[in-house]
Amino acid sequence: MGKIYKIVTVPAKTLRQRSVEVDPKSIGTPEFQSFLDDLIATMDSQSSPAGIAAPQVGRNERIFIVNERWGPKVFINPEIEVLSEAIVESEEGCFSVPGVWGIVPRAKKVRLKALDRHGRKMEIVARAFEAIVLQHEFDHLEGVLFIDKMTHTTKGENTKSV
Ligand SMILES: [Zn+2]
Repeated sequence: MGKIYKIVTVPAKTLRQRSVEVDPKSIGTPEFQSFLDDLIATMDSQSSPAGIAAPQVGRNERIFIVNERWGPKVFINPEIEVLSEAIVESEEGCFSVPGVWGIVPRAKKVRLKALDRHGRKMEIVARAFEAIVLQHEFDHLEGVLFIDKMTHTTKGENTKSV
């Protein structure tokens, strides 16, 4: 069981800063591993979570979690590459921007290279919903929020937040 952080919300400065790379040597430390558990516990404490990024708990480091069907997946120092020109538009919400939902255009297919929670290199190709979540989380590490990219607001009745 991890510690539940308070989610940082707009207009907090940590949401607008570029996060720094994690030193790969620190990944194996108990402090870092328990931070990952705390970040996952914090994500799980929210309603309908699809993911969470470290800046959302006030820590400007390049780490995010995506809530996959089989469980949480950790991405450290991710690099993103757009693999298709096709754009998908879907409704997004964010724990750090309470009460706002909107339509955001995103690339349909992306490749992510990152380190996993054990510091091992990994690479995934994601499409559709997973690709959207990855782009939303990656943006958090750059200090970018979905409200910067949304074309219009919606009611957000069935949307997972990230
Ligand atoms: Zn978000």
